[in-house]
Amino acid sequence: MDLSRYFDNAASTPCDPRVLEEMIPYFHLQPGNARSLHSFGRFAEAAVDRARQSLAQLIGADDPSQIIFTSGATEANHLLLHSFGHNLLTSCVEHSSVREVALQENLETFKQSGSEIQTHKIRSDQVASLIAVSNEVGTILPTDTNHVLAPGRLHLDATQAIGKICLQQWGAHFLSGSGHKFYGPKGIGFLFAQDPTELAPRFTGGGQENGLRSGTLNVPGIVGIGAAAKIAVDEMEENFSFATELKQIVLDALGDVTDLRVNGGANVSPYILSVSVQGVEAETLLLEMDAAGFAVSAGAACSSRNTGNNPVLEAMGLEPDWLRGTLRLSFGKFNTREAAQALGASLRQVIENVRTLRR
Ligand code: PMP
Repeated sequence: MDLSRYFDNAASTPCDPRVLEEMIPYFHLQPGNARSLHSFGRFAEAAVDRARQSLAQLIGADDPSQIIFTSGATEANHLLLHSFGHNLLTSCVEHSSVREVALQENLETFKQSGSEIQTHKIRSDQVASLIAVSNEVGTILPTDTNHVLAPGRLHLDATQAIGKICLQQWGAHFLSGSGHKFYGPKGIGFLFAQDPTELAPRFTGGGQENGLRSGTLNVPGIVGIGAAAKIAVDEMEENFSFATELKQIVLDALGDVTDLRVNGGANVSPYILSVSVQGVEAETLLLEMDAAGFAVSAGAACSSRNTGNNPVLEAMGLEPDWLRGTLRLSFGKFNTREAAQALGASLRQVIENVRTLRR
């Protein structure tokens, strides 16, 4: 398998080798529990503090103690949602980790658009949980959302935005993310809260993370997400331009394919390209592309194993015939221009072959 042909970076990115290198000592030579009082423990604690600082810098947090480490964005979203219960509103195009809770708890949901949020007249004790960059189609949330919500507040599920676009522009009060989406390891994420005392713990026990998330800290993971954050601060702009270029290469290659639509509207992240091919099953395309050595996705990984339905794309108004043929390509820094060119050419060919066979 050729990493440059891995175009499913929205599902998970490869861990940056520099991140891995920083993590390795914490698996063996530095086994300390960050709460232990001996030198090993204090060494681990200092590493956690540094990582928290790097992450705070990346997301624009004033104080590193506003960051609560979790196992990922799913847990971070749950921590937030359960802290605010029925004072939480959300939209119909959220990631499943938010949408499922909204369904179970019967939370108010609305269509994602600045003007419609306004009509809801959010109270000052309410929080709206909204996705910053859609994991399905890449749509970027309008940056004036926070003003629109006032006096209510904004929780940003920034999982597909962290390390990719500037988060400060939203001025969110709460924000969640996951390390493996920006070249860090899997199994580590965080919730940022302007005032963490507003949160209610989901797990009690040892009282770690100011009592908000008990459980021994995942020191190697935290070191990893910190290292990834530090790299992201330095490389964000360069990576953004590269993703923009890769996306354009693929779009150019697909330019003359008939009955093909690009999803997501006018303001879409360069890291995600969602295309719908009419009358073709996305899964067939995915498998054909896999056989040609390319990893792409038939919708987000979290929904791609749910047979046939995709509530987010449905909520976005995609008709069934287009929805079935929706493919997500997502770009990253370990792709190459050559691989993007080959991806575009291969996808065009595969679509043509599948259509010829169906005739
Ligand atoms: N939110 C969004 C927007 C995501 O894309 C994902 C990952 N697909 C998550 C939350 C959940 O992240 P994790 O699986 O790392 O908990």
